[in-house]
Amino acid sequence: MSAPLLAAEGLRTWFPIRGGLLQRPVGWVRAVDGVDLAIEAGRTLALVGESGCGKTTVGRSILRLVEPQAGRVLYGGADLLQLTPAQLRPLRRELQIVFQDPMASLDPRLRVREAVAEGMEAFGIGDGAADRAERVAALLRRVRLDPSLGERWPHELSGGQRQRVCIARALAVGPRLVVCDESVSALDVSIQAQILNLLRDLQDELGIAYLFITHDLGVVRNLAHRVAVMYLGQIVEEGPTAQVFGAPLHPYTRALLAAVPSVDPARRGLAARARGDVPSPAHPPAGCRFHTRCPEAFARCRAEMPAPIARDGRSARCFLAEPG
Ligand code: SF4
Repeated sequence: MSAPLLAAEGLRTWFPIRGGLLQRPVGWVRAVDGVDLAIEAGRTLALVGESGCGKTTVGRSILRLVEPQAGRVLYGGADLLQLTPAQLRPLRRELQIVFQDPMASLDPRLRVREAVAEGMEAFGIGDGAADRAERVAALLRRVRLDPSLGERWPHELSGGQRQRVCIARALAVGPRLVVCDESVSALDVSIQAQILNLLRDLQDELGIAYLFITHDLGVVRNLAHRVAVMYLGQIVEEGPTAQVFGAPLHPYTRALLAAVPSVDPARRGLAARARGDVPSPAHPPAGCRFHTRCPEAFARCRAEMPAPIARDGRSARCFLAEPG
């Protein structure tokens, strides 16, 4: 891997569980619990895992939409977690996010053209209103919307059109990295495919990097260059997409792949043996966090937490990945 555009090291974001009359913390949800990841310029890293595994909190922590308690987020020679709001502000142009629900992300009181121009105005991009109007029209064309839709209100658009507007909004300020947080999950499969194609084309044309967060491994198969699999606040496997799909090292990755219809039946059969529900991130199991569900667990797994084991450009947090 070449030098990353952005790297997170030892990222930790816990949320307090409050109780009692004074609403003091009585426990902690360990949403993100020691995450390392690296995203290369112009490439896509998919962060996958079940609902509640902490993947959304990773995206928000990197952008400081929530505040991590520990770790570093290295970008452009700075640790983003150490910057003051004033120091962080100019970098916000370069680090954008597209959420799952475009209706919630778009202000219903702004026409589409106003929504797309909003960020440009905030960052002083463009030479006056006429120039910005031209840029908005070009951005709408770039996301394959007719510029005449600029006069519409968000509620007048389809879900797919609204998501394209959100992408145009992000593009408007010239990002180098876009966090896509379940950005296609709410869309029909055919619209999903169109948006994924659009994201890939924009990456080819503009060299944007994506952190693509999803619960669906199948969605990222043809989009992501690398995949990081998350379970209970930790990354349990990371590597090039073809290798993770072709020969997953971690039993949890195999369990997730079982939900992908295109995966071969032998691997689906093995993965189907993953048991039970995900434990609470407020009380993660001792030892390997996956041991309560792992079909391959043995005594050591209950007593000791495996460290990530790196091998051939990939890594897995499982004793079975140790060189034998
Ligand atoms: Fe399963 Fe043990 Fe590997 Fe954890 S360390 S994934 S419990 S085999």
